[in-house]
Amino acid sequence: MRVTALALVGLLGLAVGSFLNVVIYRTPRGESLVRPRSHCPHCGIEIENRDNVPLISWILLRGKCRHCDGVISVRYPLVELATALLFLAAVWRLGFSWALPAYLAWLAGLLALALVDLELLKLPRSMVFTTLLVTSVLLVAASSATHDWHRLLVGVIAAVTWFVLFFTMNFASPRILGFGDVRLAVLLGLGLGWLGVGHVIVGFFLANLLGAVIGITLIVSGRMKHDQPVPYGVFLAAGAMVALFAGPYLVTLIHLTS
Ligand SMILES: [Zn+2]
Repeated sequence: MRVTALALVGLLGLAVGSFLNVVIYRTPRGESLVRPRSHCPHCGIEIENRDNVPLISWILLRGKCRHCDGVISVRYPLVELATALLFLAAVWRLGFSWALPAYLAWLAGLLALALVDLELLKLPRSMVFTTLLVTSVLLVAASSATHDWHRLLVGVIAAVTWFVLFFTMNFASPRILGFGDVRLAVLLGLGLGWLGVGHVIVGFFLANLLGAVIGITLIVSGRMKHDQPVPYGVFLAAGAMVALFAGPYLVTLIHLTS
């Protein structure tokens, strides 16, 4: 039973990852998510259903278009695989709980946003708001199912706190931390707050630590210029994900050392 359930979550992850590939490519370019259907970037021929199976099709076709042999980026199967692994990790962390659907949506949104930020240095507003809306609705559903409204309250308070903190940081250094990051911070605060105050603190430090360490390393190693914009959303999303998965251990560690 449990193996079947895990397999279903993995398959769901692959399918969602396949959809995220479309979102990641089309949303920042202002294209529709439904039309036209996916097509080969080289010859433009529409991709048939049998060649659109997540992960499997890419492997069977050895990363090439069936018609023109043009190379299909390895990014597509990797995003599908990453989504499936994140979904399975969420089950490992939260079990088959009422909150699980909310965190699957949260993780999928964060992955897509991080990849868009990494590639194009932007966090599309529609993507942040859609993820925020879906996550909120699912968390409200989880709260009403478990009659535990306290978690939701902490989540909302954390979201507001993160908004204020990042709004201030954006005001202080708008070039490093854009307003897209401020919107993203609301989403992160909500997701981590629902898990508890410890997660909010761990997530905040991890996100900013990652940003500082990697940012300084890139500048010192000469791979990035001082005044170059930073994909800060990537660090924020990564820090929040680490806080979700490693949070209980890190929170215990803080208690032990303090
Ligand atoms: Zn082709």
